[in-house]
This record gives sequence, structure tokens and C-alpha cells, in this order.
Amino acid sequence: MIKYLKLGTDGFLTESAKHKSLASFGTKVSDSKEFIIDMHVHIAGVDQDKYGNFISKKLKKSAVFRLFSKHLNISNRVDDELIINKTLKLLEESVIDKALFLAIDGVYSKSGEFNQKKTQMVCSNDYIYELTKRSKKALFGASVHPYRADALEELERCKSRGAVLIKWIPSSMEIDPLNDRCIPFYKYLAKHNIMLLSHTGVEHALRNSLSYLNHPHRLTLALEYGVKVISAHSGTHMFLHERSHYKAWKEMALKYDNFYGDISAFCMPTRVKYLRDIIKTPALHSKVFYGSDFPVYPLPLSFIFKIGFKKYRALKKIQNPFDKAYYSILSYGIPKQIFSQFSQHIRSCHA
Ligand SMILES: [Zn+2]
Repeated sequence: MIKYLKLGTDGFLTESAKHKSLASFGTKVSDSKEFIIDMHVHIAGVDQDKYGNFISKKLKKSAVFRLFSKHLNISNRVDDELIINKTLKLLEESVIDKALFLAIDGVYSKSGEFNQKKTQMVCSNDYIYELTKRSKKALFGASVHPYRADALEELERCKSRGAVLIKWIPSSMEIDPLNDRCIPFYKYLAKHNIMLLSHTGVEHALRNSLSYLNHPHRLTLALEYGVKVISAHSGTHMFLHERSHYKAWKEMALKYDNFYGDISAFCMPTRVKYLRDIIKTPALHSKVFYGSDFPVYPLPLSFIFKIGFKKYRALKKIQNPFDKAYYSILSYGIPKQIFSQFSQHIRSCHA
């Protein structure tokens, strides 16, 4: 069966509508052999006692956390059970076949001690694992700081629980991917075919001044040890005044067989030109994966010159944030394989 996009008359994606056609898009999405995978999804948690989650007071007041609460409609009462249930409900109702939820580890010193003061957020492996147990659509993206004294034990624990990859944000977790301390970590990932998803470019949700750690060039040590590395956001910038590392990312993606990128949060004005470049560079098509960066909100207005007003209005009406992000990127006409090819890597991860 072939999947097509259709919106109901009210703009919502109804269950039956999801598998039929829509005149305003009329786009073939994928055949039944391949999944549509959103491989870059964030969630937050607040329960420290039960799961070891943590959010700093400053982050709780930030625009990103407010947006997350708005998506889930949890403005008055925040609790982890509610967050899991509401997020999974949105996912179950969406056309996405699988979503990869990402844990975020805290800050550790070079001597391996946890630094609570510098940590803005922990979204624990236990929490993400618990979430993934409750939905067939949810995949486990673990996060382990490589300086942790128990880093390899924690990796082993996550692997045995089905972790698909390890997520890092080098700047906010204070990881230098070129540090020799990462070598045993890389050897473990390479041996067990577990991918590393590492943020590249300026990090906006968990800010600090260590953005230089997010340069794609710093991932070369992992690549040389044979790790499959995904550069989150493919090194692009979010704001014009920031430096974009897209060119460096592209050179590396073309050079290293084991280097990839994702197009999470690409439906925004500053990233349209990179999307265009990916489309017109066939050698990159097998190196890029689709992700929404939920709860980041897509801005389909960024694509208006290509998709026209009618499609823009249809996209604007979509309520489900997973669907909105997916159909927005789909509308730009990127190669189909980008939505599904991550599934091949999941299979090989579990081989
Ligand atoms: Zn992200």
C-alpha cells in the first residue's frame, strides 16, 4: 500500500485521511516496505526521584520549555507521567511510523564527576527507556557522557535496553569529542555498531559559551575509530549572525563513509538554502536523515516561494506537531529516501 497525505476539511489529519490522497499535495510519501522515521525528538522530564530527570529554574522559564508545554497543553501542572502520555498520544495520532526520543546527560568534569551546578537539564536514560516501553512507535536514543567514571557500564546498560544511538550536545554537556578520554567510548560504539548523534552548530535551548565544541571537525576522532556519526542539523546555523559549518559538514559527509547529517528543524528561513543544496547534491541523499527536532516549531512560511500559498495554508492548519514538521519538509520536495533510510541503520544496529 502506498501512503498519501490528506487533510480533513477542518485541516486535521483524520485516521482514514492519513492513507489516502490530497489534491493540494498529491505527494507519494513512501511504500509500505519503509518506515517514516523522525529520528530527532526531544522531551523533557522533571521527576528527579523516580527517573533522575532535572530542569534548571532558568530553563523552565525559557521559550523552548514554554513551547514544549504548549504543544502538550500542560501549562499548569507538569508531571512526567502526563508528559509521556501526552507526547505518545500525539505520536500515536501522527503519520510518523517511528520516532527516536533523545535522552540528555548532564555535565561531568574531566575527572568523571557529575557537576550539578553547570547542568541545565538531564533527561535520563531510564525515563526515555520507560517511554519507549509504552509505544511501538517510540525508539530509544540514549545519552551518556564519555567522561563519566561508569560510561562504559552505562553504555552497556543502554545497549541491552535497545538503545539505537547515543546523543551528545558537546557544548552544553561540556564534551570535547577530540579528547582522548573519548577513545574507549568510540571503540565500544564502533564494536557494537551504535551510532553517535552529536549536535553541530550553536546550541540554542541549552546555551553556554562553548559552541566551538560543536564544530563537525571535532568529530573526526570518532570517525577514525569507525563510529557511525550523525551530525545533528548538518552543521547549519539557526540565525544569520552565527557561523554555519554546513560547508565543513558537506565535505566530511562526502569524504567519510561513516559520516551523516540530519535535517532536523530545517523548516526555517535560514536553513532553506541548505535544504536546496542537499536536494541538488545526489551524493548526499544517502547521507541525510529526517528529524523534526520536536518541540521546535516548523515555519512553513519559509517555503512559500516554492510551495505556494495554497499548500502553505494547508500546512498551517495541521495541529499535530509531528505531522506539521513532517509535511512541511515533505512539501519542499526532498528525496523520499531521506524519510525512511534511517530504518536500515536501526536494523544494522540490532544485528
Ligand atoms: Zn535537537
